[in-house]
Amino acid sequence: MKYILSLDQGTTSSRSILFDKKGRIVASDQYEFPQIYPKPGWVEHDPQSIWETQKKSIEGALKSADASWDDVAAVGIANQRETVAFWDKESGEPICNAIVWQDRRTANYCSQLKSDGREDWIQETTGLLLDPYFSATKIKWILENSKEIRELADADRLAIGTMDTWLIWNLSRGASHVTDVSNASRTLLMNLRSCQWDEELLQLFGIPKSVLPQIVDSSGELAKVSPKISDRETPISGIAGDQQAALFGQLCFEKGMIKSTYGTGCFILMQVGEKPVASKNRLLSTVAWRVNGKTEYALEGSVFIGGAAVQWLRDELRIIESAPEVEELASQVEDSGGVFVVPAFTGLGAPYWDPYARGAVLGLTRGSSRAHIARATLDGIAYQVADVAEAMEQDAGSKIDSLQADGGASANNILMQTQADLLAAKVSRPKLVETTALGAAFLAGLGVGFWSSKEELVELIEPDREFEPSLESEERTRKLAKWRKAVDRVKDWETE
Ligand code: ADP
Repeated sequence: MKYILSLDQGTTSSRSILFDKKGRIVASDQYEFPQIYPKPGWVEHDPQSIWETQKKSIEGALKSADASWDDVAAVGIANQRETVAFWDKESGEPICNAIVWQDRRTANYCSQLKSDGREDWIQETTGLLLDPYFSATKIKWILENSKEIRELADADRLAIGTMDTWLIWNLSRGASHVTDVSNASRTLLMNLRSCQWDEELLQLFGIPKSVLPQIVDSSGELAKVSPKISDRETPISGIAGDQQAALFGQLCFEKGMIKSTYGTGCFILMQVGEKPVASKNRLLSTVAWRVNGKTEYALEGSVFIGGAAVQWLRDELRIIESAPEVEELASQVEDSGGVFVVPAFTGLGAPYWDPYARGAVLGLTRGSSRAHIARATLDGIAYQVADVAEAMEQDAGSKIDSLQADGGASANNILMQTQADLLAAKVSRPKLVETTALGAAFLAGLGVGFWSSKEELVELIEPDREFEPSLESEERTRKLAKWRKAVDRVKDWETE
């Protein structure tokens, strides 16, 4: 069999990619699905349209490679994390819309738990913080607000799951109700050490264990595609949350290795080895993956506005017409000329966690130009990532010597060079930046022996370009200090 079929179920689209034995993309297909905003701060998805777009993209990818299920050795899944769906085990029909990770409806409940002094215990048990982002409070909300769902739960007919679980339920035609350990670690219901659903947390959130999937490894024979879809019951042998999949796809197999994905936001993950690291800097401690029964952990920090700051230059300031144009504009000046852009448009994420911060352009002078602002915007992305990386260095107790970059904005050479300078570390960008889908494919391929070892995977990846740090240490310290001063100016700006 020639291919691994990788499903990349994202927040706005469902994608399917076929990879060959050399780790090259043979074909892909992708469909967007509607975003549903019932009220301010609420975000939902229709699980049926997620499954349908995923199915269509599988068919599309197979067709454009002139292939069939018989050519597929195994399926891997990488998915948007934390988003939860609710369905009837008997009919397989969703009972309501899925609540998306971005949904803030449980913010008050989270604040209440915080003021009840529950956060330390929750962080200690799950590695996460008390935030509506994670699945548990969303599940509690649905159980409390829908009579139909409560009745189904009482009748043991309710199934709940993140998007990996929902897709596998559909691919197996209801035969498997499973989730992998990396996805489970984002629910706020899994004990980070035992990697089992935690009884005390289930009790706190009022969630019966019977509605939850079984937690399985991230690689191995985890489930099977139903013979009604694939005659040969193709194995589903790789599952991971999208960011963990990208960490795997970037070959961060050793403790201390770190990747940053420069998309709309930036997601930075560091592999920390076989024991979870408790963060003292408000980073998340999470499962990276479990392969051959061995669990490896990661530290994670997210920056809310990454490439989106470039969209702001394009759509609001209108100083560029397309995102890639920012590089040309920024290269017209040597540096930002003392201008700082703090893109805290939606507050600040890790390590600051300030929802009241707002964006600012600081240090303007009579000579500040569009080019300076463009350059300072790229710097602002790199500074935010550097702040997360520094928090990781402190938590992990080791210096970062290189970072793997991917995502749309990693195409920008100025951004990559600035990142290397600010980290005083090498930044490497692979040729293939589809690392999320690749990571799921790698997990799936290892799971069925399509690839024999991690060493074999390392051979498949071609670096595109490496950026070496070239900034004097004193200059770097001075710049970082100035940036922190700028961040201080924007903190706690809004009151509500
Ligand atoms: P997502 O997966 O979050 O949709 P992508 O990985 O597709 O994001 O990256 C898109 C983001 O990257 C956009 O916010 C866009 O502004 C930014 N971007 C794309 N190309 C460039 C570039 N050459 N320089 C800087 N930013 C870019």
